[in-house]
Amino acid sequence: MVCKFVPSVCSYCGTGCGVLFEVINGKIIRTLPIKSHPVNEGKLCIKGWNLHEHVNSFMRLKSPLIRENGRFHKATWNEAIRITADRLKAIIKKYGPDSIGVLVSAKITNEENYLAQKFTRAAIGTNNIDHCARL
Ligand code: SF4
Repeated sequence: MVCKFVPSVCSYCGTGCGVLFEVINGKIIRTLPIKSHPVNEGKLCIKGWNLHEHVNSFMRLKSPLIRENGRFHKATWNEAIRITADRLKAIIKKYGPDSIGVLVSAKITNEENYLAQKFTRAAIGTNNIDHCARL
């Protein structure tokens, strides 16, 4: 049995609590708080204690899904991005850029949130962007 502890940051909200993942044979089995972390000082909320569960969930999406005729089927990233881009372009052409809204998440990094707002404003052409921390 190979056991190790991997430090990370909780991704469930913007607080940024320090966590340790206990990994056994390559599988994350538990989340622990980091006592010396300056943000959470050894504490976690209930979401943080269960941070590892979604990683191993059978419901986790591992590839894009495209809905056709009411049914989802697996797709490649290139296929999903192309279809999404084509549909966004068609909506913008027909209804204008302000018909699009983008919602981003505290579960992604600050850098990804920055890119999302840049994409929304510069590529789509709207200021309709918001963040789950404000909802
Ligand atoms: S443990 Fe709770 S408070 Fe800390 S980052 Fe995660 S969700 Fe936020």
